Amino acid sequence: MSKHFETEAIRNQIERSQFQEHTTPMYVTSSFVFDDAEDMRASFTEEKIKNIYSRYSNPNNTEFIQKVMQMEGAEDGFAFATGMAAIYSTFAALLSSGDHIVSARSIFGSTHTLFTQYFPKWNIETSYFDINNPSEIESLIQPSTKILYAESPTNPGVDIIDLELLGKIAKKHNILLIIDNCFATPYIQQPIKYGADLVVHSATKLMDGQGRVLGGIVVGKSELIREIYLFSRNTGPALAPFNAWVLSKSLETLAVRVDRHCESAFAIAKALESHSAVSKVKYPFLKSHPQYEIAKKQMKLGGNIIAIEVKGGIEAGRKFLNAIKMCSLSANLGDTRTIVTHPASTTHSKLSEEERLAAGITPGLVRISVGLEHVNDILEDVVQALNS
Ligand SMILES: *Cc1c(COP(=O)(O)O)cnc(C)c1O
Repeated sequence: MSKHFETEAIRNQIERSQFQEHTTPMYVTSSFVFDDAEDMRASFTEEKIKNIYSRYSNPNNTEFIQKVMQMEGAEDGFAFATGMAAIYSTFAALLSSGDHIVSARSIFGSTHTLFTQYFPKWNIETSYFDINNPSEIESLIQPSTKILYAESPTNPGVDIIDLELLGKIAKKHNILLIIDNCFATPYIQQPIKYGADLVVHSATKLMDGQGRVLGGIVVGKSELIREIYLFSRNTGPALAPFNAWVLSKSLETLAVRVDRHCESAFAIAKALESHSAVSKVKYPFLKSHPQYEIAKKQMKLGGNIIAIEVKGGIEAGRKFLNAIKMCSLSANLGDTRTIVTHPASTTHSKLSEEERLAAGITPGLVRISVGLEHVNDILEDVVQALNS
């Protein structure tokens, strides 16, 4: 029986051991034992589904994967040490030399680096479309195009892409649609509903939600996950069982945490719209957001990330960060602690000025990852930094 999201996140639990523990124990073991030679032989030929070695599978990883599969409405999945390991392994497993990717231009910095610096070494090229001009996507698709890739909302500009439109384009051209659903989480948005073949996540962000562990996951169609699994079990990017245990536990509170994150973010975004030191506030559920209608269609809530444009460009952006008292200047997001970043001088500093502007990263852009402190305390800190 399929229960509600919150219930599944808690009650979807691997089988209890002989000790009848209430919550899931940690299976911190590198390998597993076999009953006899026949059991071992059958396990290796996959006639038996059994844990063999924690690079392949582990009960804690299995529980984490099953929860995310359930949340995203996916057939299968595999968990990784980091979000980037999930993204890299997904592409590396599915692509061959000569294949082509069509990707949104505004994507996570390391994913962009993968596409521009590493994949060309293996003769895999990427063409980029402007998120605000999805009509150009079809003109970029070539006979060798295998994957259409995007994030929504984007990092750090908080742009929204119409997932339904992407799903239709991918289907029409018979290419795979892969969505990085990190900013939304499956609580807010489920890309598979709109035709995504695979969904990737940095579990480090809102899934862990407390800034403690790194992790990544891909879920989606079983025949694709099979390829990714075989590649990964031989190349070794597996998630550590301890981290899987932390992440599975964190998912139990995903819904309540994300509810509060979004409630606070929406209130702060509304309050900042009228501040004189801010020229622009971008938040998916503000009517002023260019893709407000699409956000309302595909997202349950607006997310926890706000992008603001501080008047006065790069210097004003840096001054704002220096005036912050409580919030953290840190590279993470989706943490209990509110984090402010200045992408132009940090996460996206490796891009050229031109590439940054094309990806919507203006010099004064500040990203706020709204945490779980009291909303008034967060707002007070941000406002005093803007005033100074
Ligand atoms: C952080 C992030 C990643 C990378 O995840 P790691 O766990 O840091 O490797 C990928 N995509 C998005 C959108 C991210 O925010």
